[in-house]
Amino acid sequence: MKKMGCLTVFLIAACCLFLIYSRRPANTTAAVTAPAKYNNLPEVLLVNADHPLPDTYAPKELVNLYAQKRHFLLANSSIELEREAFEAANRMFKLAEDEDMNGFILTSGYRTREKQAELYAENTDGTAQRPGCSEHETGLAFDVTTRYDAGTFEDTPQFKWLIEHCWDFGFILRYPKDKTNVTGIAYESWHYRYVGEEAAKIIHENGWTLEEYCAARK
Ligand SMILES: [Zn+2]
Repeated sequence: MKKMGCLTVFLIAACCLFLIYSRRPANTTAAVTAPAKYNNLPEVLLVNADHPLPDTYAPKELVNLYAQKRHFLLANSSIELEREAFEAANRMFKLAEDEDMNGFILTSGYRTREKQAELYAENTDGTAQRPGCSEHETGLAFDVTTRYDAGTFEDTPQFKWLIEHCWDFGFILRYPKDKTNVTGIAYESWHYRYVGEEAAKIIHENGWTLEEYCAARK
């Protein structure tokens, strides 16, 4: 009888342990967390068809590029950029100059919403963005070509140089050829956006667009 009692106690204890452990979630220790590199990504202003600039948006400090000491050329004397973007661009084109990569011409910078509305109204091939949805309204984007551009900017050594170096100075090629399905914008070899050095480096290393960067940041 004593043996039977021990066996009963043992069986009850075994059943209790089984119930306790079988009710435990399988992977309580594997909590889902975003990979560390996606945490603390710096915030970057996203402007596209789904993310228009607020009506109240105003650039911080626009500078007229014609009035600055520059290491690049201008298509006209009224082109403006945010100071931070201008200074980064100037450092970048200074390096280009030092490496005998000359002849960059900035053709467009900041646009007011009114100017963008005009371009949008005049545009016939659907390439202009709706007013409020163009990065040019931030003062953080420029269009560029070269003095030696015989057809497309993409075919010039200046383009190749810019692709290799722009991210080091905080700029990204905003509308890459292989990402039109993500950006919703046709490939533009000439349009560069200032996002700051840290974000540009992360975007470059991951082969992201700004849309993908902003999605990973959340
Ligand atoms: Zn542009």
